[in-house]
Amino acid sequence: MEEIGQNLERVRTQIADAAKRSGRSADEIELVAISKTHEVEKVHAAFDAGQRLFGESRVQEARAKIPLLPSAARWHFVGRLQKNKIRHAVPLFELFHSVDSIELARDMNRIAEEEGLHPRVLLEVNLAGEGSKIGFAPDALRAGMETLLAFPRLMVEGLMTIPPLAPEGEASRPFFIALRELKEQIEKEFGAPLPQLSMGMSGDFPVAIEEGATLVRVGTAIFGKRTPAKVRAERAGEI
Ligand SMILES: *Cc1c(COP(=O)(O)O)cnc(C)c1O
Repeated sequence: MEEIGQNLERVRTQIADAAKRSGRSADEIELVAISKTHEVEKVHAAFDAGQRLFGESRVQEARAKIPLLPSAARWHFVGRLQKNKIRHAVPLFELFHSVDSIELARDMNRIAEEEGLHPRVLLEVNLAGEGSKIGFAPDALRAGMETLLAFPRLMVEGLMTIPPLAPEGEASRPFFIALRELKEQIEKEFGAPLPQLSMGMSGDFPVAIEEGATLVRVGTAIFGKRTPAKVRAERAGEI
């Protein structure tokens, strides 16, 4: 558990270094500690080491975990949100990173209306064009943007992407650049500010910061490896 504090410190230093390299203030970047699959004790250790913002990717798991952590912990949702989980999820999370279709946005908007809430959301973009990956293709996002911005209950605050898995963080750079450019285009075209760019995971978050990330989603570098069975289920979209 002591390790978690050290890991966090290392990640925070890397964030500060990357910010400095790119002439940014480290205050512009928020670290989301991705605690999915990790036991409550480990999340507690991170909380005790000063981390307040956590990310989960399964509503069921988050519903069990969140009440066990101090209420000062804040939670983001980074997974694939199933329609039948929206009602449970909307009050739990302060930001949804992964709205990946108009249908999901429409369902969230309707349920948020019924619940009297205004969820903050990011739109997930699939920049690699991989068939198996979720997210809006850039053209589809532009085509749907007016509809997305018109949902009165959703606060659309930015974009998110997950580049293809690569052994080197540097391989993600073109995708991070593309996300930033897409954000700038959409801001210009639709006159809508999109302040948040959620990009960068354990293997590539310093590169993401150099390219403008405001939210980095780091799991393994803080909490250690997730168990292989869980990683497999995660890839298959079961988690
Ligand atoms: C699991 C997950 C992460 C964290 O990945 P690490 O490589 O463990 O840092 C980040 N973003 C999303 C969307 C995830 O599902």
